[in-house]
Amino acid sequence: MTNAVNDKAVVKDYFNATGFDRWRRIYGDGEVNKVQKDIRIGHQQTIDTVIDWLKSDGNLAELSICDAGCGVGSLSIPLAQAGAKVWASDISEKMVGEAREKAKEVLGEIYNPTFSVQDLESLGGKYHTVVCLDVLIHYPTEDAAKMIGHLASLAENRLILSFAPKTLCLTILKKIGEFFPGPSKTTRAYQHKEADIIKILENNGFTIGRTSMTSTRFYFSRILEAVRN
Ligand code: SAM
Repeated sequence: MTNAVNDKAVVKDYFNATGFDRWRRIYGDGEVNKVQKDIRIGHQQTIDTVIDWLKSDGNLAELSICDAGCGVGSLSIPLAQAGAKVWASDISEKMVGEAREKAKEVLGEIYNPTFSVQDLESLGGKYHTVVCLDVLIHYPTEDAAKMIGHLASLAENRLILSFAPKTLCLTILKKIGEFFPGPSKTTRAYQHKEADIIKILENNGFTIGRTSMTSTRFYFSRILEAVRN
């Protein structure tokens, strides 16, 4: 078994068990501890930045969007609410189940977003825009190129990625470490050099458009919009 396969199985198990409980709370609106609250605020800023970018283009209702690694639907649900056609998927059936429930609460019994339990490497189809937020933290650098290459092949016009940049302090990793209770349930967290990610995007025929950085005390996420040449 390669490291990549191994990591993926661990990540999947984690987000179907303890990780699901913890991240559902962080991404929700109930009581959480201070560190989790800080991460919740930072993550929401990342989501809001991407929504602002897409809304400011003024064509959201015409867009097909793939939200790869959608978690509990933090991005997919508001995008669908704003009129985009959204395909949302995640490797964790528990995360997708929660996203479906949330979508039902917010949007009622409708067929947008379309949710599925899928490893992002198995995603097919073509979308105007592919978005993948805070998933690269689960990919070692050597696997990131393949993963981004696959997402790029699905994106007709644009790919939006966020990742924990390597140049920033290791606090985030330590803090993330605290959320993973024991060695048997631990997933590794990988930071990436921005230059590496940009090179991969350029090699796939994209040019960097808008960029942003979310930094709170315990949450760091670099957001890149890559537009097909
Ligand atoms: N993108 C969501 C957001 O920003 O709200 C969720 C981010 S959460 C930190 C990472 C998510 O990526 C988890 O829901 C996890 O199950 C999912 N994930 C990790 N590896 C994946 C893979 N190979 N394919 C699909 N989803 C994956």
